[in-house]
Amino acid sequence: MRAHDFIVVGAGTAGSVMAARLSEDPGVRVLLLEVGAAEGPPAMSVPAAWPTLIGSEVDWGFNTVAQVGLDGAVLPYPRGKVLGGSSGINAMAHVRAHRSSYDDWAAAGATGWGYDDLLPYFRRSETTEGRDPYYRGTDGPMHPMAPRRQPPAAVDCLAAFKELGHPYSADLNGADQEGASWYEMTIVDGNRQSAADAYLRPVMRRRPNLTVINDAQVHRLMISGNRCTGVEYAEANGQRWTAWADSEVVLCAGVIGSPQLLHLSGIGPADALRSHCIQIVADVPGVGENLSDHPLGSVVYAAARPVPPGENNHGDILGALRTDQTLDEPDMHVLFCDVPLTPSAMLGPESGFTIGFSLLRPRSRGSVRLASADPGAAPLVDPGFLTDERDVAGMLAGLRLAREIGGSDAMARWRKEEVR
Ligand SMILES: Cc1cc2nc3c(=O)[nH]c(=O)nc-3n(C[C@H](O)[C@H](O)[C@H](O)COP(=O)(O)OP(=O)(O)OC[C@H]3O[C@@H](n4cnc5c(N)ncnc54)[C@H](O)[C@@H]3O)c2cc1C
Repeated sequence: MRAHDFIVVGAGTAGSVMAARLSEDPGVRVLLLEVGAAEGPPAMSVPAAWPTLIGSEVDWGFNTVAQVGLDGAVLPYPRGKVLGGSSGINAMAHVRAHRSSYDDWAAAGATGWGYDDLLPYFRRSETTEGRDPYYRGTDGPMHPMAPRRQPPAAVDCLAAFKELGHPYSADLNGADQEGASWYEMTIVDGNRQSAADAYLRPVMRRRPNLTVINDAQVHRLMISGNRCTGVEYAEANGQRWTAWADSEVVLCAGVIGSPQLLHLSGIGPADALRSHCIQIVADVPGVGENLSDHPLGSVVYAAARPVPPGENNHGDILGALRTDQTLDEPDMHVLFCDVPLTPSAMLGPESGFTIGFSLLRPRSRGSVRLASADPGAAPLVDPGFLTDERDVAGMLAGLRLAREIGGSDAMARWRKEEVR
């Protein structure tokens, strides 16, 4: 039995920030519980090695259910399981959404979540150099940077966007959120900066009021009346604990873990939970529904000459583009990658490059549902990729844009042929 003011569940992007900010007040006792380890493999700090983290010990290793929009394909669905969570395994791109995306949240009823409402928090999160301080932070914990060295294939790719009439943006996170630009990455002195690196590690040993417990899996939220009063968790050795929160439990277990924990705690669609013999606390059918994620496609080219690697994560150029000029804002990200991104099951060219494309506002919706009442069992993850025909049309438009970039005159000296 341990008592705290706040219990934060999950030390990923959100949980690292929550625990660090709440514990700034020395009078507030904060407990942070994370099922992953305190440290991961050395590859976690090497930007170019990020793809090797997928399927590693710091990845939950989820798979989707068979995707009806993809001819029944089952896809890996990586999520970080380590201090830093998915920010410990992700591709480190530091890109705000277009302002219209946040404004749509506010228009849909999320008062206080429009772009202008969030801008002070975006600024507070980052330190940038040479940017417009109206939009960009100057003293926050994250240190995003565009690459210092500009490799020639990436320079040519930027020229390809220009050749095809797409605008250039000096800062996609600033005033001008449309066009092609150099990618900003959360990479500091050549190393990944996860949310844990930025927010948690600098303070966690210095604050006696902040307790961080790793290898601790929360099994259930304790509900008393209509209040969450604490959590039940198990350490790796099987020892079980109950921790009580005098103030609040802050659920930051991520897009898969948070709905799973609510379900295990009896909060969700009552009939589905009863089928797993879970006692109902609140019948809330929306918990676990409306999962939405960005599909990513790629066009892979064999190279006519070796493509010199960039210094970061293999991707240096990003275009935020409109596939249809009648749209009010960009609907597609098109990106350059200095290696052939070929799924492991397929043979790719030895040397090559990739033009990737991703829908910014997918319409398809899926769900996260329980497979079992066992907290150790993976839930059923269904992103519902391409189940909405508008997403199919959008991805085809993205494919055309990507092929135009890859097939441009500016990329001619690098391109041998399109291979996938
Ligand atoms: C491969 C990959 C590449 C990506 N690339 C980018 C990118 O380049 N740029 C970008 O902006 N975004 C990227 N993302 C997305 C981004 O990383 C996530 O959106 C973000 O990290 C989510 O933050 P979160 O706090 O919601 O969840 P997470 O960071 O996933 O944190 C959830 C934490 O909760 C823990 N947890 C879950 N269940 C429990 C439990 N029961 N008990 C205790 N702990 C629990 C997990 O282990 C995890 O540490 C990428 C994601 C992936 C997986």
